[in-house]
Amino acid sequence: MRAIRRFTVRTLLPAALAPLDELAHNLRWSWHTPTADLFSGVDPALWDEVHRDPVAMLGALGPERLAALAGDGAFVDRVRAASADLREYREGERWYQWRSREIEAAGGEALPASIAYFSPEFGITAVLPQYSGGLGILAGDHLKSASDLGVPIVGVGLLYGAGYFKQSLTRDGWQAETYPVLDPDGLPLTVLREDDGTPARITIDLPAGRVLHAHVRVATVGRVPLLLLDADVPENDDAARKVTDRLYGGGGEHRLQQELLLGVGGVRALRTWSRLTGAPAPEVYHTNEGHAGFLGVERITELVGEGLAFDEALEVVRAATVFTTHTPVPAGIDRFGRDLVAQYFGGDNEAAGVPVDRVLALGAESYDGGDPGVFNMALMGLRLGGRSNGVSLLHGEVSRGMFNGLWPGFDPAEVPITSVTNGVHSPTWVAPEILDLQRERLGIDPVGTPTAGFDAWLGDGVGDEELWALRRTLRTRLVEEARARLRRSWRDRGASPAELGWVDEALSPDVLTIGFARRVPTYKRLTLMLRDPERLRALLTDPQRPVQLVVAGKSHPADDQGKRLIQQLVRFTDEHDVRHRIVFLPNYDIAMAQDLYPGCDVWLNNPLRPLEASGTSGMKSALNGGLNLSILDGWWDEWFDGDNGWAIPTADGVDDPDRRDDLEAAALYDLVEQQVAARFYDRDERGVPPRWLAMVRHTFASLGPKVQATRMVAEYVERLYAPAATAGRALDAAGHEPARELAAWKARVRASWSGVRVDHVESAGIGEVPQVGDTLTVRADVTLGDLDPSDVEVQVVHGAVGENDVISSYATAPIALAESYEAGRHAFVGTVTLDASGPFGYTVRVVPTHAGLVSPAEMGLTANA
Ligand SMILES: *Cc1c(COP(=O)(O)O)cnc(C)c1O
Repeated sequence: MRAIRRFTVRTLLPAALAPLDELAHNLRWSWHTPTADLFSGVDPALWDEVHRDPVAMLGALGPERLAALAGDGAFVDRVRAASADLREYREGERWYQWRSREIEAAGGEALPASIAYFSPEFGITAVLPQYSGGLGILAGDHLKSASDLGVPIVGVGLLYGAGYFKQSLTRDGWQAETYPVLDPDGLPLTVLREDDGTPARITIDLPAGRVLHAHVRVATVGRVPLLLLDADVPENDDAARKVTDRLYGGGGEHRLQQELLLGVGGVRALRTWSRLTGAPAPEVYHTNEGHAGFLGVERITELVGEGLAFDEALEVVRAATVFTTHTPVPAGIDRFGRDLVAQYFGGDNEAAGVPVDRVLALGAESYDGGDPGVFNMALMGLRLGGRSNGVSLLHGEVSRGMFNGLWPGFDPAEVPITSVTNGVHSPTWVAPEILDLQRERLGIDPVGTPTAGFDAWLGDGVGDEELWALRRTLRTRLVEEARARLRRSWRDRGASPAELGWVDEALSPDVLTIGFARRVPTYKRLTLMLRDPERLRALLTDPQRPVQLVVAGKSHPADDQGKRLIQQLVRFTDEHDVRHRIVFLPNYDIAMAQDLYPGCDVWLNNPLRPLEASGTSGMKSALNGGLNLSILDGWWDEWFDGDNGWAIPTADGVDDPDRRDDLEAAALYDLVEQQVAARFYDRDERGVPPRWLAMVRHTFASLGPKVQATRMVAEYVERLYAPAATAGRALDAAGHEPARELAAWKARVRASWSGVRVDHVESAGIGEVPQVGDTLTVRADVTLGDLDPSDVEVQVVHGAVGENDVISSYATAPIALAESYEAGRHAFVGTVTLDASGPFGYTVRVVPTHAGLVSPAEMGLTANA
């Protein structure tokens, strides 16, 4: 395998074309159509041949054609203009800069000078296949939108030698995988180098005296640098070179080594980046899912090296770390053997002042039902992240329930996990025709601002006939693309061209087109549509109102169950009476997705609620004028409003999974037949479906501003990054004195908490018949033992009370110190106003309080009456 040494010779550009090098290497071309057009315009056929990759395009042009282009004054002018535009994009003021000034003018603290964003995968463009699915696509959209907004973010990830696999099908519909080896020198990356020209090197000590080395390759995503660590370097032994061989390749130890490189190596790469480029050190560290969690351990180690104790360092790290959880599916969480992790952080590898037991405790499943032998990366994320979030309102709620065990004594609603609903980067996912129409005729430009005026779609700037014609254009393009892919797939499956005449007739540009594309874990239920094959067949072949389905998705290579689902679906699509109406397209990736979303009239999603944390593909469809048809899960649960698509009724409460599938599938068929198809084919005298288009317009207006990743990134900035930076700065100040104080305070409170109790509660002020507006006065005697009243908050917990005496949806009201008795006993008094009718209940509790706590639940300590 290694006998062949590959490298790519970089093109030497004529001076007049020199700016093309930056235009090709800055990935902004992947969402900036004018720049992509500059490259494709040179030779459209060649552009397709090199898979729309500007770096490959420059290489393929060769010196003679480049010389000719350098002599073409008009082309040189366009290159110069594109280069000036890129410079303005990179250096000009954007949302973040004016927002920061606005906040400071109002007396607030400056927004963070730099934010590090860690993710195991980044889906930016098809030419950099370093992603497997939604998590990576989201990370790519995060960086692009941060760039558009001017947010000073630095991405940190790994460079995988083979990226994610390419999917094809065998004759009988089984998924086959190939791992094309990427040539990093041919990718749009540059090696980070020391001043003397040698590659900057990151090293990590492994067990048994081995060392893992990595180089850093930098991708430039508009204004945002993305540092990718690559272990396939000559300094490494053969085993170490394989650490970054594949995305989510091996199990156990291989994966642990990847995550070690990502977290620990990632922090070291950031330090090297700052040293070599003068970039400011990050003030906030954001980890996209738990895989990069070791970054916190590395930062603790750094701070311990500066003289802090472990617990003091932990406070500094927590204050400035944001953790985003992405999955309510336990199998989606990385768990390692505790003993394995101990080999990497214990023994000879134990850093002074960072005892291995403390590291292991960060990932311990230390609650009822937890596995004592396991190190859980999500729990480490929550323990090291002072602020954490789920990715939709519903997922936030599900996560609070799922991780409640870390905050015993608190109600799920108080678990300190908030949510920021995902969004998508519209310039990447929206058809250029729609972007142009919005910009030129409707004045909508979502690129530089968090939200924009999509209401314009409700006016008459674009007529029904024009909109309908545009939708048909997009559908037609998908049909053509799908036929080409189908033909290639059948050739791979061993069919001869003579057998494939029917492919020219597969799908129709005039039939209602439903898309379904996503990874194939069981909960996404790829085959729900096949629950009643005859019912599906009838929908597909209806003579008046036919439906066509375009389906795609990869199964994890180790997931045979997923592969069986794909096979089941493919076998159905192979049947002669339906194969022109339902197709499975292999190798779902960014390139396919970009054709798929604009061409589909309806985007179908039928996960098992509530296992879809957010989902983003439906958002991309909506921005192209597609209507969502989905189970109320993830983002759709939040933003479905009754008129912007359809909700498939979920049989949530039904325990028997077969029966649940039956019920939900039947509801799906009914909806498609009676509502979706009925509306799509209901045409007026112009041949246009007015009621359908009204829904499309309403989709643009209602979802357009919300589903933008710029909205999401702005929320992260304002709700998480800015407070994290403020908290981090506060603990960093004065030689970390505030961190020492906070750690010492927490230790004291924890040690004394067993002495805290509520001794007696009494109330006054409520008559025989309590009424709304009455004021309840509560007095509580509490014992605080060694603690001072200022260490705690005494609260009245009150709200509606249910049948079993449980206060649901409660609020808390602090009550104040009124009197101190001897020996650590005190009385607290305060009032609560009854503001709703119905059964009411209250109780009193004590929680710790300190300016350095993000939430009263943070320490998991409470004493109840
Ligand atoms: C958007 C996207 C995804 C994620 O879609 P979900 O709705 O979250 O499943 C996965 N793969 C590709 C190629 C995408 O473009």
